Amino acid sequence: MRVYLDNAATTPLDKEVFDAMAPFMLEHFGNPSSIHSHGREVRAAIEKARRTVATLLNTSPAEVFFTSGGTEADNAAILCTCRTLGIRHAITTQLEHHAVLHTMELLEKQDGVQVSYLRHDERGNLDLAHLEELLSSQPQTLVSIMHANNEIGNLNNIEAIGALCKKYNAIFHSDTVQTMGHYKHDLQQLGANFIVGSAHKFHGPKGVGFLYCDANVKIQPLIQGGAQERNMRGGTENVYGIIGLAKALEIAYRDMEEHTRYIQGLKDRMIYQLKEQLEDVHFNGMSATADKSLYTVLNVSLPASDINEMLLFSLDINKISASGGSACSSGANTGSHVLRALDVDPTRGSVRFSFSKYNTPEEIDFAAETLAKLYKKVSA
Ligand code: PLP
Repeated sequence: MRVYLDNAATTPLDKEVFDAMAPFMLEHFGNPSSIHSHGREVRAAIEKARRTVATLLNTSPAEVFFTSGGTEADNAAILCTCRTLGIRHAITTQLEHHAVLHTMELLEKQDGVQVSYLRHDERGNLDLAHLEELLSSQPQTLVSIMHANNEIGNLNNIEAIGALCKKYNAIFHSDTVQTMGHYKHDLQQLGANFIVGSAHKFHGPKGVGFLYCDANVKIQPLIQGGAQERNMRGGTENVYGIIGLAKALEIAYRDMEEHTRYIQGLKDRMIYQLKEQLEDVHFNGMSATADKSLYTVLNVSLPASDINEMLLFSLDINKISASGGSACSSGANTGSHVLRALDVDPTRGSVRFSFSKYNTPEEIDFAAETLAKLYKKVSA
């Protein structure tokens, strides 16, 4: 058995999604910008996909723009909002994905934008009183706060953040990559001006995503070129990617209740097994608290041990694919900017397990037993 427990990094493609995409690789190959029938049939399919996404998110198709993924959508929302509207102050957190953090650093260095980082506690809970303090003292602000953290799974209260942004007239972007397709987003309720999606996080294809852009916030495009995406993103569309994204989101919404229950059950099982079989095991951030974290992510904190440096490698040779964080290759905490920001003891080991509808209880048991054996071996 080889077990894949790295679904926050990417998810396997759903066969139903592949079946929807295949005709757009082989038969319907026209360029959607061409005015002849080969082009028009593909254009119609893209617009249908856009309507599907918009309907699921309770917004208008005119506010949905397809991109190459979550990173591009985050970059476009942050860079283009600040540059188009001349925004001089941004608020974010140290726990964001690098798609947001590095974009903020660029704005700071190249555009002289002042970036404030929100306070949080040692489990990654954000201080919303601090947000209000910052918002009330800085007019014309861009706030970028993720819906859920990809490493520790913490769910942020983006409705409350959206309401604060509205109160102080700030623009609000939320990186929703980890919740899109796993939670319902109702854009009439949310109070966000920008949210994003990345198809490969919900069993769609890689290299395609979207940006929801509030029609009341007019921004210039990130990518210059042709008139594609209503002048918001130059470049020939990733047609089969877009078709796959819409299909994957449709399936995710269709089956959400059942999959949420099932995956939360797998995560609960993992928590139980690890607590039973390992001594001194904790969970980083809020990842073991059901209503405060993604049901797909569990970040496990393991005792100080020589094995920690090679933890992910040891799991891999024992047939388990897991991760230490977004761009982290070792099991030691030093590789993760999120765990560092939480001041997690660097001698402890950390591993992120992330689950999908394709995982089984047997795989969970196997992973928990393997981890327990690795630590028992070294402590024996
Ligand atoms: N934001 C978050 C929270 C993510 O987890 C990821 C992917 O790991 C991204 C952004 C980037 O998305 P993509 O891989 O589509 O560029």
